[in-house]
Amino acid sequence: MQAITVAPGEADSVRLDEIPEPEAAEGTLLVELLALGVCGTDREIAGGLYGEAPPGEARLILGHESLGRVLEAPPGCDLRPGALVAGIVRRPDPVPCPACAGGEWDMCRNGLYTERGIKRRHGYGAERYRLDPDFAVEVPGSLGACGVLTEPASVVAKAWEHIDRIGARTDTWSPRKVMVTGAGPVGLLAALMAVQRGHELHVFDRAESGVKPELVRDLGGIYHVGPPAMIHDVAADIIVECTGADPVVIEAVCPQASDSIVCLTGVSTGGRRFPFDVGQFNREAVLENHVILGTVNANRRHFTAAVAALTKADRRWLERLITRRIPPERWRDAFEIQADDVKVVIDFRLASLT
Ligand code: BGC
Repeated sequence: MQAITVAPGEADSVRLDEIPEPEAAEGTLLVELLALGVCGTDREIAGGLYGEAPPGEARLILGHESLGRVLEAPPGCDLRPGALVAGIVRRPDPVPCPACAGGEWDMCRNGLYTERGIKRRHGYGAERYRLDPDFAVEVPGSLGACGVLTEPASVVAKAWEHIDRIGARTDTWSPRKVMVTGAGPVGLLAALMAVQRGHELHVFDRAESGVKPELVRDLGGIYHVGPPAMIHDVAADIIVECTGADPVVIEAVCPQASDSIVCLTGVSTGGRRFPFDVGQFNREAVLENHVILGTVNANRRHFTAAVAALTKADRRWLERLITRRIPPERWRDAFEIQADDVKVVIDFRLASLT
């Protein structure tokens, strides 16, 4: 069968490979891949900058944003053949640390976790793959191809869960304005969940026209383009930073409103230095009770919350997030960023959904 594989650490080593069928030991569910989302992490791995193959192997099957259909399930399993599923990315560390022992592998304390398609574990980018039901989340058929957004939405659901929990540090906090920086898939899904919480939405991005401003307006949000410092004009109670771009991050971590929460979700490359007034930053953070948190990955609870949020959303709006569908043999196109891209997916068998 076909799979998209890479030699981690080696730039431009991605290829469409012929690989053996998955072994039974890999999990009791056999799943056929319908669609695979491509994100910045996949592009980083493709560039040789991130990712690790399973121990003793040279290549890694790529892909962690999956929509699949169950082909075989063990007796008594809630998931039946035909069910649509999204695979959870992270697996707990083997020690396990207290977080992993409690099912909170997204908060792993010792770094020994593995991630499908990213770190020491094969991904979902193969025609068929296996996994255990504990790591498969059912996606309602009504979501169709939009089910491929479950994984990025799970990361955002975790971010919002943590923001909500931090906000509950006082009994009186009632945030009104949310600023999301970056109108990529993570930013737009964060924006969707802000609106679902009843917040006033603002989104900052550099795209002056095209699908991004339209998607924000159709959510009822206000779209801002300009120098990053303009995000302060809004004085948001919550900032969800989704660009990972240094000039935007610097502004985001210096919010204007009191008691505000800044949630960082974008992974930066690092290595560039910017002048930054640490004293002023510290003074404001202390005097205004600011919280700045980073967040990564998602556990099962967040995948469930992601499915709930996607199910509540307008399906036509979600469909517009998938801006390109690329057949596996043209996988190369999916790794090249185009101007109006939001989410690019590799379409293995989406036609079988209709
Ligand atoms: C994935 C996360 C993962 C992170 C770091 C992201 O692209 O969505 O599941 O934890 O990369 O590897």
